[in-house]
Amino acid sequence: MVDMDKIVSLSKRRGFIFQSSEIYGGLGSAWDYGPLGVELKNNVKRLWWRDNVYLRDDMVGLDAAITMHPKVWEASGHLASFSDPFTGCAECGRHYRADQIHDALWSSRWVRSLRERLTKGNNAVREIEKWLNGDGKKLAPNLPAVKRPEEIKSLDAASDLRVVDAFDQLGGSPNPYEVEAIIKPFLLGQSHLCCPNCGGVHLSPPKPASLMLETFLGPVKETATKTYLRPETAQGIFVNFDNVLQASRKKLPFGIAQIGKAFRNEITPGNFTFRTREFEQMEIEFFVLPGTDEEWHQKWIDERFAWYLRYGIRKENIRLREHEKDELAHYAKRTADIEYLFPMGWSELEGVANRADFDLKQHSQYSGKALEYFDEESKQKIIPYVIEPSAGADRSTLAFLVDAYHEEEVRGEKRVVLKFHPELAPIKIAVLPLLKKNDRIVETAKEITADLRRRWYAVYDDTASIGRLYRRQDEVGTPFCVTVDVQTVGDEKAPADDKVTIRDRNTMEQVRVSLSTLEPTIEKLMNGKWAEVAQEHGIKRA
Ligand SMILES: [Zn+2]
Repeated sequence: MVDMDKIVSLSKRRGFIFQSSEIYGGLGSAWDYGPLGVELKNNVKRLWWRDNVYLRDDMVGLDAAITMHPKVWEASGHLASFSDPFTGCAECGRHYRADQIHDALWSSRWVRSLRERLTKGNNAVREIEKWLNGDGKKLAPNLPAVKRPEEIKSLDAASDLRVVDAFDQLGGSPNPYEVEAIIKPFLLGQSHLCCPNCGGVHLSPPKPASLMLETFLGPVKETATKTYLRPETAQGIFVNFDNVLQASRKKLPFGIAQIGKAFRNEITPGNFTFRTREFEQMEIEFFVLPGTDEEWHQKWIDERFAWYLRYGIRKENIRLREHEKDELAHYAKRTADIEYLFPMGWSELEGVANRADFDLKQHSQYSGKALEYFDEESKQKIIPYVIEPSAGADRSTLAFLVDAYHEEEVRGEKRVVLKFHPELAPIKIAVLPLLKKNDRIVETAKEITADLRRRWYAVYDDTASIGRLYRRQDEVGTPFCVTVDVQTVGDEKAPADDKVTIRDRNTMEQVRVSLSTLEPTIEKLMNGKWAEVAQEHGIKRA
């Protein structure tokens, strides 16, 4: 598994994702998608929309406003209960989500540094002493052991051994509770957890903090309407249920799909684009007859799980996790999370919830407008049940990026390659001239690029040698390179053969095809038929 630092660094270097407002020192947990990132994320959203809206008879789309009537959030229950418990450090003033402090500790710089130090040496007490006097002072100045390093000697030989073993066993699969057990000796008898930032042990008792981002509509704050940036796109769908039903004449079961921004005032955002205060959701509310909800719920869980596999997520990196009764949201009858093995561990990509009739009932009650459906068969008005597959566009994009990342050794050199599914790849085809000083080669390559652009995102590049150009395209995941050489255009020794070389990113194999069949050949390749094309044309010797 690649570590997140490599993904962050590649993202910046190649223009996938930048820190927001970087020239001003950056804004915490806000990220901007660069030239290739916007292509990747748009592809994720386009495929989601195509597969869930265009390829189905039972789905329509919606694009609701981000600001909604404040009553919406009373009805939805968000104003009353949408909060997370937070705790603050008395020493350094940082805040944390109380239920995530173990995870925050695990990924903190001082715990990582301590762990490195401990796994290096075999005399744990001496290594700890060294750490306390060096990195400890710098990274966790308020850790009791840093303040009183002499007390570290009270660790006896037995606990010394245990500490080393425990860190060894942690390896690549951290368990926060084990980390806590190991860290406790450094608290020297304190029963509290300590601060992931400074090591301080004075953390306040957990208090609830609202996750709603307030805003004011109108020029004068005192008289303006206070409302909220929506914390989920779902409510825009529920309040439009009757509008969509009347306009589309859909019969149950049917769904409404929406992609849009949502906002949550997270206490501890982090892990790159995984948890941010502004994020984009891809949500479906699928309305069904009560009694058929459990069957539909299972269908959607299966369908959504298969979707990630379809676009290249490796099956060992994705799993389903059923919510326990006590972690179910206030509206949910059953929820299953689709989780991905991110560099920081298994985390939610998408939740598929059975929200029963909670939302439509609440909005009927608060708005005084009945949100019902007339069932022809039973001749009765009913309130449909709703199944909600709710995916994160940013999280899916990050998962596809992480999953695509490969490092390989090719002829003694490291090759970094993003093995995106062709439909997801930001650039589909790069057209490269073998000699940039040959006008006919350059001209032909530019003409090919212009032709291909009518159907796919193709780029022309002549800024380096062909080997470098291939590596650059590998690193951004371009599935196919088309090379124009002297044979293509001909010279005084031989006439033009009107053929170009296509190189496959994954296998690095090459075939030579006639210009007149380039477009249908690329069409085949986009559908994953490299082997067939290679057999038809024969693999070119490099
Ligand atoms: Zn602190």
